[in-house]
Amino acid sequence: NLQSTTTLNNAVKMPRVGLGVYKMEEGSDVKEAVLSAIDIGYRSIDTASFYKNEEGVGQALKETSVPREELFVTTKVWNDEQGYEETLAAFERSMEKLGLEYLDLYLIHWPVPGKYKETWKALEKLYKDGKVKAIGVSNFLEHHLEDLLEDAVIKPVVDQVELHPRLAEPALRDFCTQRDIKVEAWSPLARGRYFDDEVLQNLAEKYDKTPAQIILRWDVQHGIITIPKSTKPHRQKENADIFDFELTSEEMKQIDELNTGERNGAHPDEFD
Ligand code: NAD
Repeated sequence: NLQSTTTLNNAVKMPRVGLGVYKMEEGSDVKEAVLSAIDIGYRSIDTASFYKNEEGVGQALKETSVPREELFVTTKVWNDEQGYEETLAAFERSMEKLGLEYLDLYLIHWPVPGKYKETWKALEKLYKDGKVKAIGVSNFLEHHLEDLLEDAVIKPVVDQVELHPRLAEPALRDFCTQRDIKVEAWSPLARGRYFDDEVLQNLAEKYDKTPAQIILRWDVQHGIITIPKSTKPHRQKENADIFDFELTSEEMKQIDELNTGERNGAHPDEFD
């Protein structure tokens, strides 16, 4: 179920399925979406300073009767906040907005060239000071990770990347598995672009599920942490209802074969 966790390389447990809140409006929109998700059973929320909705997320976390220690909150340091001192200050701003005493997971949002190593040092400091339970990265390719690992004292626990059946990233996933770094999928549903795919449609019919549920189940069976976004309670419920069936290894392979390497978001070597 939604409380099912995976163990990160520093022994912290992270829910396998969480709620992404990108593009949710600051204030009551995001607050209501987070409260409804928590009500459904979600325990992990993925935000970022860039999303400009940390305050609404924080309000929901304050209002819910679910205790803080049962929740798992991720936020991220944005590109123009990177650098050692800048990141320490950005973290304080995020924590102020979220209204939290500690954070569960802090990520470097994108590998800003020439900056991400200094940013990482700040994350290590925050981790050592006990302000954050785990630190990781986002949108890092193998070469960024290799570079970071050269002088990192603490290893990232996750790499959150664009990942869905059309961009399955098998090489990056192998690379991360070998180094005990979990892969987390952003835009796991590719925002619905491929729901009409025949393979997904056939499997959906076979299991009496939706293409979204087939994709999210594929994530979970691959050990990929996934954070589908929806503001609608019925879809939040649908995206969580993936723990009562299992794809066969043949079916997993059929979905694996949909990989074309097609990216919808920015390339981690060419963003700005
Ligand atoms: P997603 O793949 O989760 O798709 C979300 C959209 O798909 C929704 O807006 C809705 O239109 C549709 N949808 C959701 N559930 C559905 C269902 N059951 N049936 C039909 N349609 C459904 O896309 P996303 O929001 O881009 O990604 C998820 C989360 O990943 C974000 O909210 C954010 O937290 C994170 N993210 C991170 C980065 C990064 O750079 N680290 C970038 C993008 C997103």
